Formats: sequence, C-alpha cells, structure tokens
Amino acid sequence: MHRLLPLLVVLMAVLLVAACSDDDAPQAGEGFSLEFVGGSKYPDVQDRISLEGTFEDVTELLNERLALPEKVTIVVGDELGTDGPAYDPEAREILMPIPFVVEARQLLANEFDLDAATAQDLALEGNQHALLHEVGHALVDVLDLPITGSEENAVDQLATVLAINEGATDVALSGADLFYAEAIDPAELSAIDFWDEHDLDQKRFATIVCLVVGSDPDQFAPVADDYELPAEQVDICEQEWDTASSSWERLLDDHLR
Ligand SMILES: [Zn+2]
Repeated sequence: MHRLLPLLVVLMAVLLVAACSDDDAPQAGEGFSLEFVGGSKYPDVQDRISLEGTFEDVTELLNERLALPEKVTIVVGDELGTDGPAYDPEAREILMPIPFVVEARQLLANEFDLDAATAQDLALEGNQHALLHEVGHALVDVLDLPITGSEENAVDQLATVLAINEGATDVALSGADLFYAEAIDPAELSAIDFWDEHDLDQKRFATIVCLVVGSDPDQFAPVADDYELPAEQVDICEQEWDTASSSWERLLDDHLR
C-alpha cells in the first residue's frame, strides 16, 4: 500500500496542475474585456446591464469561443463620444453607450406598443446583437480578415450567425426588431440615405430574419409567419444561411478554441 503512495501523490499533482491550467482563458493582453465607465444618468438601465450580465455574458462567450491575439475592450457608459454602438480601431475599443439602450427602449415601445419592461428586454437583446456587430468589426481589424462586399453587411451576418449558433435567436430577432423600429419612413428617404455604408434599416431587418429562418426553415416557420417573410424567399434564405455561416466559419477557423 505504502509503495503506491508516492505514485498517488504524483498523480494527484498532475491532476491538480491540469485542473488549474485553464487553456481556454485568455492571457493578459489578449481577448475581450468589459469595462463600465462613470455613473449613468440612467441608473435603472445601468443596473439591468450590470446585474443581468447583458454584455458580460457576451464577453465571456466570445472568450470561450475565440482566441483573440490582442486585447479588445468593450466600454459601457454614458459619455463615449458616439450616439450609437461603435468600434474604435485606434483604441481597440467597442463603445456601447447606455443612452442608446434608452433610445432603443423608447423606439421599440413606440413601434410595437410595448410595456416598459418588455421594451427594456428587447432593447437589451437588440444591443447584444449590436455588440456582436461591433465585435465583427473588431475581428476584421485585429485578425486582418479579408472581406468582399460591404463590411457592414458582413458583420451584420456575423452577429446573426453567432447568435443563431449559440441558440440565441431571440437576440438576433431583437436586433431585427430594433432595425425595424429605427427605419426611416420610405416617403422621407433622401439621397444621402443611399450613400450610407449601411444598408437601409428595412434591409438589415430582412437580412437577419432571412438568416434565422434559413438556418432551419421547419423550426422557424412561425418566425417566417410572424415577420411576413415571403414563402418564395425561404429557399434563398437557406442558401444565404449556408453561405454566411460557412464563410464565417472558414474565416474564423484558425482562431476558434
Ligand atoms: Zn458597423
């Protein structure tokens, strides 16, 4: 019995070291991190974001899935120098302004005639999708990914593919709802709207819904109904999903954990 003891001690030590060395955790100076700056004029929204881990959950998931060789900080606060979510390539920061969450809550409440709590939930999910969109810009920058066509379209697709692959279709669809609520009335469109690097919000809405339904037309047939996706588009959406998901998988393949 006693002769086994040293072996057991060695074995335990090996197991302990294996348990302690977490290969999946980003090293210092790598990966995504989250930072709240300053107190907010909207403490209820700030509390919801921090207590429910709205952006923390996304940050942790990204670090579990991706090995990012540089540090990208997700900054949440009121005075970030941008009205909406944005990526700053100089600072390698993703900026998530709290006033935009408040604005999104109001837009959604007005558009869909929602109570405050439901509008808040949708606004937070819509902002998770917006965060994933900005993560896309950060990945294109940090990993120097090749993109043809519009980068804005490509990262809208990435945000949606990531959400769908994690089973978070609600996040993708809340992103779609937010674009729907933000859309300018077609009668009020002006020439400048067509020069924008983003597609019109109506199209961004449709792209997300198309990818969700295309990812599994049977499972998401009720979504196609709810969002009035024309039946003749479903096959095309399936192809869109195959192209978007397989392309992003190949682009990120070397960086997946
Ligand atoms: Zn963008």
